[in-house]
Amino acid sequence: MTDFTGLRALVTGGASGIGLATARLLAARGAEVAVLDLEPSGARPPLRGYRADVGDAPSVRAAVAAAAADLGGLDILVNNAGIGAQGTVEDNDDAEWHRVLDVNVVGMVRVARAALPHLRRSGHAAIVNTCSIAATAGLPRRALYSATKGAVYSLTLAMAADHLHEGIRVNCVNPGTADTPWVGRLLDAADDPAAERAALAARQPSGRLVTADEVAGAVAYLAGPLSGATTGTSLAVDGGMQGL
Ligand code: NAD
Repeated sequence: MTDFTGLRALVTGGASGIGLATARLLAARGAEVAVLDLEPSGARPPLRGYRADVGDAPSVRAAVAAAAADLGGLDILVNNAGIGAQGTVEDNDDAEWHRVLDVNVVGMVRVARAALPHLRRSGHAAIVNTCSIAATAGLPRRALYSATKGAVYSLTLAMAADHLHEGIRVNCVNPGTADTPWVGRLLDAADDPAAERAALAARQPSGRLVTADEVAGAVAYLAGPLSGATTGTSLAVDGGMQGL
Protein backbone atom coordinates (compact mmCIF):
# COMPACT_ATOMS: atom_id res chain seq x y z
CA MET A 1 0.00 0.00 0.00
CA THR A 2 1.45 3.35 -1.03
CA ASP A 3 2.27 5.62 1.87
CA PHE A 4 1.17 9.21 1.24
CA THR A 5 2.47 10.54 4.56
CA GLY A 6 3.89 14.04 4.11
CA LEU A 7 2.10 14.59 0.77
CA ARG A 8 -0.51 17.30 0.29
CA ALA A 9 -3.42 16.72 -2.08
CA LEU A 10 -6.21 18.84 -3.53
CA VAL A 11 -9.26 16.97 -4.87
CA THR A 12 -11.87 18.89 -6.86
CA GLY A 13 -15.42 17.58 -6.73
CA GLY A 14 -14.21 15.79 -3.63
CA ALA A 15 -17.44 15.97 -1.64
CA SER A 16 -19.23 13.16 -3.52
CA GLY A 17 -18.73 10.01 -5.54
CA ILE A 18 -15.33 9.34 -7.13
CA GLY A 19 -13.77 12.50 -5.66
CA LEU A 20 -14.89 11.71 -2.12
CA ALA A 21 -13.69 8.10 -2.37
CA THR A 22 -10.32 9.39 -3.63
CA ALA A 23 -10.01 12.04 -0.93
CA ARG A 24 -10.79 9.45 1.76
CA LEU A 25 -8.32 6.92 0.34
CA LEU A 26 -5.47 9.44 0.13
CA ALA A 27 -6.21 10.63 3.68
CA ALA A 28 -6.37 7.05 4.98
CA ARG A 29 -2.89 6.50 3.52
CA GLY A 30 -1.48 9.53 5.31
CA ALA A 31 -1.96 12.50 2.95
CA GLU A 32 -3.21 15.89 4.04
CA VAL A 33 -6.26 16.38 1.81
CA ALA A 34 -8.14 19.51 0.76
CA VAL A 35 -11.45 19.20 -1.08
CA LEU A 36 -12.64 21.91 -3.46
CA ASP A 37 -16.35 21.63 -4.20
CA LEU A 38 -19.49 23.64 -4.94
CA GLU A 39 -20.90 22.14 -1.75
CA PRO A 40 -17.98 20.93 0.39
CA SER A 41 -20.04 19.85 3.42
CA GLY A 42 -19.86 16.19 2.27
CA ALA A 43 -16.11 16.25 2.98
CA ARG A 44 -15.84 15.68 6.73
CA PRO A 45 -12.64 15.82 8.86
CA PRO A 46 -9.85 14.95 8.41
CA LEU A 47 -10.68 16.24 4.91
CA ARG A 48 -10.62 20.05 4.71
CA GLY A 49 -13.40 21.58 2.63
CA TYR A 50 -13.09 24.69 0.43
CA ARG A 51 -16.10 26.11 -1.42
CA ALA A 52 -15.54 27.07 -5.07
CA ASP A 53 -17.12 26.75 -8.49
CA VAL A 54 -14.63 25.51 -11.10
CA GLY A 55 -16.63 27.62 -13.56
CA ASP A 56 -15.65 30.78 -11.68
CA ALA A 57 -11.95 31.74 -11.81
CA PRO A 58 -11.85 34.07 -8.76
CA SER A 59 -13.44 31.45 -6.50
CA VAL A 60 -11.00 28.81 -7.79
CA ARG A 61 -7.98 31.07 -7.20
CA ALA A 62 -9.14 31.90 -3.67
CA ALA A 63 -9.88 28.28 -2.72
CA VAL A 64 -6.63 26.88 -4.15
CA ALA A 65 -4.59 29.62 -2.43
CA ALA A 66 -6.32 28.93 0.89
CA ALA A 67 -5.87 25.17 0.58
CA ALA A 68 -2.18 25.48 -0.35
CA ALA A 69 -1.58 27.89 2.54
CA ASP A 70 -3.35 25.63 5.06
CA LEU A 71 -1.56 22.48 3.83
CA GLY A 72 1.82 24.21 3.43
CA GLY A 73 1.96 23.47 -0.32
CA LEU A 74 0.58 20.98 -2.84
CA ASP A 75 2.05 17.76 -4.24
CA ILE A 76 -1.06 16.19 -5.81
CA LEU A 77 -3.97 17.64 -7.79
CA VAL A 78 -6.94 15.39 -8.55
CA ASN A 79 -8.86 17.36 -11.16
CA ASN A 80 -12.16 15.54 -10.86
CA ALA A 81 -15.13 17.95 -10.70
CA GLY A 82 -17.45 17.44 -13.65
CA ILE A 83 -21.06 17.38 -14.75
CA GLY A 84 -23.04 15.20 -17.14
CA ALA A 85 -25.03 15.88 -20.28
CA GLN A 86 -27.24 13.59 -22.31
CA GLY A 87 -28.36 13.73 -25.90
CA THR A 88 -27.26 13.85 -29.52
CA VAL A 89 -25.87 17.01 -31.11
CA GLU A 90 -29.47 17.97 -31.95
CA ASP A 91 -30.61 17.83 -28.34
CA ASN A 92 -28.25 20.33 -26.67
CA ASP A 93 -28.12 23.97 -27.82
CA ASP A 94 -25.03 26.19 -27.98
CA ALA A 95 -25.60 27.56 -24.48
CA GLU A 96 -25.61 24.04 -23.03
CA TRP A 97 -22.44 23.15 -24.96
CA HIS A 98 -20.70 26.23 -23.58
CA ARG A 99 -21.92 25.53 -20.04
CA VAL A 100 -20.75 21.90 -19.89
CA LEU A 101 -17.46 22.55 -21.74
CA ASP A 102 -16.81 25.41 -19.32
CA VAL A 103 -17.16 23.20 -16.24
CA ASN A 104 -15.64 19.95 -17.53
CA VAL A 105 -12.72 21.35 -19.56
CA VAL A 106 -12.03 24.99 -18.74
CA GLY A 107 -12.78 24.19 -15.09
CA MET A 108 -9.84 21.76 -15.02
CA VAL A 109 -7.64 24.38 -16.70
CA ARG A 110 -8.60 27.02 -14.12
CA VAL A 111 -7.76 24.71 -11.23
CA ALA A 112 -4.49 23.61 -12.87
CA ARG A 113 -3.44 27.24 -13.45
CA ALA A 114 -4.03 28.06 -9.80
CA ALA A 115 -2.32 24.89 -8.54
CA LEU A 116 0.74 24.74 -10.84
CA PRO A 117 2.88 27.30 -8.96
CA HIS A 118 2.45 25.19 -5.81
CA LEU A 119 2.98 21.84 -7.60
CA ARG A 120 6.20 23.13 -9.19
CA ARG A 121 7.66 23.70 -5.72
CA SER A 122 6.93 20.07 -4.76
CA GLY A 123 9.62 18.59 -7.02
CA HIS A 124 7.69 15.27 -7.32
CA ALA A 125 4.13 16.33 -8.10
CA ALA A 126 1.29 14.55 -9.87
CA ILE A 127 -1.92 15.67 -11.53
CA VAL A 128 -4.66 13.11 -12.18
CA ASN A 129 -7.57 14.25 -14.35
CA THR A 130 -10.86 12.36 -14.23
CA CYS A 131 -11.62 11.59 -17.85
CA SER A 132 -14.12 8.88 -18.92
CA ILE A 133 -14.49 5.88 -21.15
CA ALA A 134 -16.81 8.24 -23.04
CA ALA A 135 -13.66 9.91 -24.44
CA THR A 136 -12.95 6.87 -26.61
CA ALA A 137 -15.99 4.56 -26.61
CA GLY A 138 -18.59 6.28 -28.82
CA LEU A 139 -21.46 6.04 -26.32
CA PRO A 140 -24.97 6.77 -27.65
CA ARG A 141 -26.69 10.03 -26.59
CA ARG A 142 -23.54 11.42 -24.95
CA ALA A 143 -22.23 13.73 -27.72
CA LEU A 144 -21.56 16.77 -25.56
CA TYR A 145 -20.30 14.86 -22.51
CA SER A 146 -18.03 12.69 -24.69
CA ALA A 147 -16.60 15.77 -26.41
CA THR A 148 -15.70 17.30 -23.04
CA LYS A 149 -13.94 14.11 -21.94
CA GLY A 150 -12.14 13.80 -25.29
CA ALA A 151 -10.82 17.28 -24.58
CA VAL A 152 -9.75 16.22 -21.07
CA TYR A 153 -7.83 13.30 -22.58
CA SER A 154 -5.96 15.55 -25.04
CA LEU A 155 -5.39 18.15 -22.33
CA THR A 156 -3.81 15.44 -20.17
CA LEU A 157 -1.30 14.54 -22.91
CA ALA A 158 -0.44 18.17 -23.62
CA MET A 159 0.01 19.02 -19.95
CA ALA A 160 2.17 15.94 -19.44
CA ALA A 161 4.52 17.23 -22.16
CA ASP A 162 4.54 20.79 -20.84
CA HIS A 163 5.24 19.98 -17.20
CA LEU A 164 7.39 16.82 -17.24
CA HIS A 165 10.60 18.77 -16.81
CA GLU A 166 9.14 20.70 -13.89
CA GLY A 167 8.77 17.48 -11.92
CA ILE A 168 5.03 17.21 -12.53
CA ARG A 169 3.48 14.05 -13.99
CA VAL A 170 0.02 14.30 -15.59
CA ASN A 171 -2.23 11.29 -16.20
CA CYS A 172 -5.94 10.54 -16.33
CA VAL A 173 -8.34 7.80 -15.27
CA ASN A 174 -11.09 6.65 -17.61
CA PRO A 175 -13.92 5.21 -15.53
CA GLY A 176 -16.74 3.22 -17.04
CA THR A 177 -20.15 3.73 -15.46
CA ALA A 178 -19.46 4.09 -11.75
CA ASP A 179 -21.97 3.69 -8.95
CA THR A 180 -21.95 7.26 -7.59
CA PRO A 181 -24.64 9.74 -6.51
CA TRP A 182 -24.50 11.20 -10.04
CA VAL A 183 -25.46 7.86 -11.61
CA GLY A 184 -28.02 7.42 -8.84
CA ARG A 185 -29.68 10.67 -9.93
CA LEU A 186 -29.66 9.48 -13.56
CA LEU A 187 -31.31 6.22 -12.55
CA ASP A 188 -33.90 8.00 -10.38
CA ALA A 189 -34.92 10.04 -13.43
CA ALA A 190 -35.34 6.97 -15.66
CA ASP A 191 -38.79 5.50 -16.41
CA ASP A 192 -37.62 2.13 -15.09
CA PRO A 193 -34.56 2.65 -12.81
CA ALA A 194 -33.93 -1.08 -12.29
CA ALA A 195 -33.99 -1.79 -16.03
CA GLU A 196 -31.75 1.22 -16.69
CA ARG A 197 -29.25 0.07 -14.03
CA ALA A 198 -29.19 -3.42 -15.60
CA ALA A 199 -28.63 -1.89 -19.05
CA LEU A 200 -25.72 0.25 -17.79
CA ALA A 201 -24.18 -2.77 -16.04
CA ALA A 202 -24.58 -4.97 -19.13
CA ARG A 203 -22.67 -2.41 -21.24
CA GLN A 204 -19.52 -3.36 -19.30
CA PRO A 205 -18.05 -6.83 -19.96
CA SER A 206 -17.78 -7.39 -16.19
CA GLY A 207 -21.59 -7.14 -16.05
CA ARG A 208 -21.59 -4.69 -13.16
CA LEU A 209 -21.03 -1.01 -12.41
CA VAL A 210 -17.59 0.13 -11.31
CA THR A 211 -17.33 1.28 -7.68
CA ALA A 212 -16.07 4.71 -6.67
CA ASP A 213 -13.44 2.99 -4.53
CA GLU A 214 -12.10 1.12 -7.57
CA VAL A 215 -11.65 4.40 -9.43
CA ALA A 216 -10.06 5.94 -6.32
CA GLY A 217 -7.52 3.09 -6.25
CA ALA A 218 -6.46 3.89 -9.81
CA VAL A 219 -6.21 7.61 -9.01
CA ALA A 220 -4.08 6.86 -5.95
CA TYR A 221 -1.74 4.73 -8.06
CA LEU A 222 -1.29 7.53 -10.61
CA ALA A 223 -0.90 10.15 -7.86
CA GLY A 224 1.71 8.24 -5.90
CA PRO A 225 5.38 7.27 -6.19
CA LEU A 226 4.69 3.75 -7.57
CA SER A 227 3.74 5.37 -10.90
CA GLY A 228 6.84 7.59 -10.91
CA ALA A 229 7.75 6.59 -14.49
CA THR A 230 4.22 7.11 -15.83
CA THR A 231 3.07 10.34 -17.42
CA GLY A 232 0.78 11.24 -20.32
CA THR A 233 -1.30 8.09 -20.08
CA SER A 234 -4.85 7.00 -19.24
CA LEU A 235 -5.88 4.15 -17.00
CA ALA A 236 -9.25 2.56 -17.78
CA VAL A 237 -11.38 1.44 -14.83
CA ASP A 238 -14.28 0.12 -16.83
CA GLY A 239 -14.90 -3.58 -16.29
CA GLY A 240 -13.11 -4.39 -19.55
CA MET A 241 -15.13 -2.00 -21.74
CA GLN A 242 -12.16 -0.54 -23.57
CA GLY A 243 -10.08 -3.65 -24.01
CA LEU A 244 -12.55 -6.54 -24.51
P1 NAD B 1 -20.85 13.23 -8.33
O1 NAD B 1 -21.96 14.09 -8.87
O2 NAD B 1 -21.18 12.14 -7.39
O3 NAD B 1 -19.73 14.16 -7.71
C1 NAD B 1 -19.29 15.30 -8.40
C2 NAD B 1 -18.84 16.36 -7.40
O4 NAD B 1 -18.38 17.47 -8.17
C3 NAD B 1 -19.98 16.86 -6.50
O5 NAD B 1 -19.55 16.92 -5.15
C4 NAD B 1 -20.28 18.26 -7.05
O6 NAD B 1 -20.73 19.17 -6.05
C5 NAD B 1 -18.92 18.66 -7.61
N1 NAD B 1 -19.06 19.68 -8.65
C6 NAD B 1 -19.89 19.65 -9.73
N2 NAD B 1 -19.77 20.79 -10.42
C7 NAD B 1 -18.84 21.54 -9.77
C8 NAD B 1 -18.31 22.83 -9.99
N3 NAD B 1 -18.73 23.60 -11.01
N4 NAD B 1 -17.37 23.30 -9.14
C9 NAD B 1 -16.96 22.57 -8.09
N5 NAD B 1 -17.45 21.33 -7.81
C10 NAD B 1 -18.38 20.83 -8.65
O7 NAD B 1 -20.14 12.65 -9.67
P2 NAD B 1 -19.12 11.43 -9.92
O8 NAD B 1 -19.88 10.36 -10.60
O9 NAD B 1 -18.31 11.15 -8.71
O10 NAD B 1 -18.20 12.10 -11.04
C11 NAD B 1 -16.96 12.68 -10.76
C12 NAD B 1 -16.14 12.75 -12.03
O11 NAD B 1 -16.06 11.45 -12.61
C13 NAD B 1 -16.72 13.67 -13.13
O12 NAD B 1 -15.67 14.36 -13.76
C14 NAD B 1 -17.34 12.68 -14.11
O13 NAD B 1 -17.38 13.18 -15.42
C15 NAD B 1 -16.39 11.52 -13.99
N6 NAD B 1 -16.94 10.23 -14.40
C16 NAD B 1 -17.99 9.69 -13.75
C17 NAD B 1 -18.49 8.47 -14.17
C18 NAD B 1 -19.65 7.81 -13.50
O14 NAD B 1 -20.19 6.84 -14.07
N7 NAD B 1 -20.04 8.20 -12.30
C19 NAD B 1 -17.91 7.81 -15.26
C20 NAD B 1 -16.82 8.41 -15.90
C21 NAD B 1 -16.34 9.62 -15.46
